Amino acid sequence: MKEKKDLFRMIPSVDEIISMDEIKKFYKMTSHQNIVECIRKVLEEIRSLIIQLPEQEISHFKISQEELIQAISQKIKKKNELSLCSVINATGVVLHTNLGRALLSEEIKEALWSVASQYSTLEMNVETGKRGSRYDHVEELLCKLTGAESAIVVNNNAAAVTLVLSALAKEQKVIVSRGELVEIGGSFRIPEVMEQSGAHLVEVGATNKTHIKDYENAIDENTGALLKVHTSNYRILGFSESVSSKELVGLARKYEIPALEDVGSGVLIDLSNYGLSPEPTVQSIIEAGMDIVTFSGDKLLGGPQAGIIIGKKKYIEKIKKHPLNRAFRIDKLTLVALEATLKIYEEGENVIQRIPTLRMLIENKEILYDKAIKLKIAIQKNVTNNFYVEIEESCSQVGGGALPLEELPTYVVSIWSDSYSVNEIEEKLRNFRKPIFTRIFKQRIFFDVRTIVENDIEEIAQAMKLICKEKIRR
Ligand SMILES: *Cc1c(COP(=O)(O)O)cnc(C)c1O
Repeated sequence: MKEKKDLFRMIPSVDEIISMDEIKKFYKMTSHQNIVECIRKVLEEIRSLIIQLPEQEISHFKISQEELIQAISQKIKKKNELSLCSVINATGVVLHTNLGRALLSEEIKEALWSVASQYSTLEMNVETGKRGSRYDHVEELLCKLTGAESAIVVNNNAAAVTLVLSALAKEQKVIVSRGELVEIGGSFRIPEVMEQSGAHLVEVGATNKTHIKDYENAIDENTGALLKVHTSNYRILGFSESVSSKELVGLARKYEIPALEDVGSGVLIDLSNYGLSPEPTVQSIIEAGMDIVTFSGDKLLGGPQAGIIIGKKKYIEKIKKHPLNRAFRIDKLTLVALEATLKIYEEGENVIQRIPTLRMLIENKEILYDKAIKLKIAIQKNVTNNFYVEIEESCSQVGGGALPLEELPTYVVSIWSDSYSVNEIEEKLRNFRKPIFTRIFKQRIFFDVRTIVENDIEEIAQAMKLICKEKIRR
């Protein structure tokens, strides 16, 4: 009768393992210390497996050398990789916050690396040889594109809103509609941001309806600003009404207080011309007279993570001087990526094709269908006959708290199998050397072709090949 202590004795020593040829080859890739650490971890996992093993299974327990080597090899390879790495997004969610939101344009690659790896003009005025401002690199561009007088950029839009409220309305009342007390994922909530900034929230109106007189009735000598928040990730439909930017500006002028708007997902191109639902463009909000407008760099703008603040010079000056601005300061990599992205808009040619986010959003159906056919053929070539592959129509999402109700008609390649559950396939794809994220729908795996690129097709096919092989070996 085998006992657990016999099983513990079967575990090979670190020295034994390290002298195996299959493990020795990793010395080319990483250090002795890393290899030993990975071996120890795997051996520890085996020990805890044995500890948890039910009595009746003790006699069947084996440690196969092949599996042991494979587990250690995988650990070493994994350790050698960066944890933050690129993945394949086959979910069809274009602005997927957990997968990094907007993709930068390929053409800004060189500018980014050049500034990253060399000294730069970050805060240097080349003409005068004197200290410059990091905001100079984007301020003029932002003003030109949006019609604003002045601009400044910070780390993200959450920081932008906090900074604006802090600089312009600290210890004063800020009036917001009850229909616009937005929560964005990851703990951004208007009431809490307000509290942090030191401004006092005054809620007016009802959830479904707020009228201009609701704002007006709440104004007193202690009112620091009127704030409009774009309900970027939800909509109030039916019996509802909100005050337009223009109306709010009119009221703010009458009482000589600033009108602020957090538009969330700033879009510079009217996408309704391309079949998407209308969203106010940043230019239209500036044109309505808003004193300050804030929006994200990595939502519909299609740039890097950033918070963009544009508006009247007198307010921007105040914001620039606020001590929090130093804490929210944008870094040089973001700044160069933002400048290069804005330049694409400024040039104005083929903008939609050159900004990946916009291209994916309005990709035409023939292109999507062609991609689906290519993917289907590539997968079919690589899977065994216990897998089924089909092209289906479905809907992609914009994501990232933008156009929440929009359903973008798309094609997906769907797969399912007799020998695997969809959850098993999903997990294996997610753990592939280049992780693949998919959508599960009605017991099938969906690869939405909207968010995958040409190069992903072969990679997905390879992953499927590997999954099929594993099953046969079992
Ligand atoms: C997304 C969003 C934010 C937060 O922007 P981040 O860039 O993610 O910090 C704030 N307000 C609104 C209305 C948003 O849609």
